[in-house]
Amino acid sequence: LPLEFQKAKIILDKICEAGFLAYFVGGSVRDTLLELPLHDVDIATSAYPAEIKHIFKKTIDTGIEHGTVTILDHGEGYEVTTFRTESTYQDYRRPDSVKFVRSLAEDLKRRDLTINALALNLDGEIIDLFNGLDDLKKKVIRAVGNPNERYHEDALRMMRTVRFASQLDFDIESKTLNAITTNSKLLKKIAVERINVEWVKLLLGKNPKKGLQSFVDCGLYRYCPLLEDKEQILKLILSLDNLQIGDEVVAWTLFCYLSFQDYNKITLFLKSWKCSNDLIARVERSFLATSLLKQNQVNDWDLYTIGIQSFEIANEVAKLLGFERDISIIRQNYEMLPIKNRKELVINGGILIKELDFVPGPFLGNILSKIEKKVVCGELPNELAVLKELALENKNN
Ligand code: ATP
Ligand code: MG
Repeated sequence: LPLEFQKAKIILDKICEAGFLAYFVGGSVRDTLLELPLHDVDIATSAYPAEIKHIFKKTIDTGIEHGTVTILDHGEGYEVTTFRTESTYQDYRRPDSVKFVRSLAEDLKRRDLTINALALNLDGEIIDLFNGLDDLKKKVIRAVGNPNERYHEDALRMMRTVRFASQLDFDIESKTLNAITTNSKLLKKIAVERINVEWVKLLLGKNPKKGLQSFVDCGLYRYCPLLEDKEQILKLILSLDNLQIGDEVVAWTLFCYLSFQDYNKITLFLKSWKCSNDLIARVERSFLATSLLKQNQVNDWDLYTIGIQSFEIANEVAKLLGFERDISIIRQNYEMLPIKNRKELVINGGILIKELDFVPGPFLGNILSKIEKKVVCGELPNELAVLKELALENKNN
């Protein structure tokens, strides 16, 4: 058993001693069998939340309405979820109410994919009710039970399916794939934030083309924000050699660079995907940097305003598109900038007002910007006397 499971053993032991069942389930079992690193260990149990809280002193109600309680043990948290079924699906979304059950089989039945429906007990036994082990071996992604029904119950599962195809480099079984094609428009019912999470995981996966190909073939893209008319762009991405994306900003910048000339469209696009403002700002800078790299026109002012990080991202995008540049030269130029931000300017608004009798207002801002630009571009030294003189000259005319 991997270390993560060994550490959690004591938790399972205690639940079992109290007379209940407890298993490792979901992603951690799948990833262990694939010899992939684990990020979170999920535990499923026949004990109800109240019973878990009775067994363990320190717990947090992380998602008690879904049956999830976090057990705290020596500074570690373990998520334990009661076996449940999800009977009432409304609006093709996850159910708003769940029913706790005592049977592991019932719990495994409501899971999305056979490879995600494996359970592991403390004896190292695998419970495999849907031939998930076989699918793992064959590198196949297959829905549990009737795929049509399963996607009807929860349309997000379609995005999860293509995401896992990319992350694991697995093929999607044909009935499962057909069911996604049939039900793709149900994706409209799903919150954009949740689609976003799966989409990014897909793009950052081990073999993104595999997930992306199905995403396009099954028509899922038609029901994602502002992608309806982007089939050609998606196909262009599918045609790139060595498509490996290590960073979310690279992924969005690549897509935006291929899709939009108009800078404002990027903001609209990313907002429609409910990206955070911070992410949007980073993609916008990386987009500008990509255009500048392409034109081989990176000057000091660009470097200063856009920042070196965005050029690093831009060069990743450029690499994917076949116009990678020698970033070490750009890095050197950045390091040699006289100042890296406005705070490093020896002069500021306060000095201008107090010592040179400037009036606060837009005029002051304009002068400061002018000085800043001259210093960044090396036309003036960052020295107080020199900069004051320039300010005064501008004040008079
Ligand atoms: P990851 O490596 O991304 O965490 P995971 O398989 O652990 O992959 P989670 O979202 O953490 O994915 O979910 C844990 C488990 O819960 C899944 O393995 C699956 O069994 C089940 N599950 C999650 N989301 C759904 C869903 N929408 N429908 C059915 N089962 C789901
Ligand atoms: Mg998980």
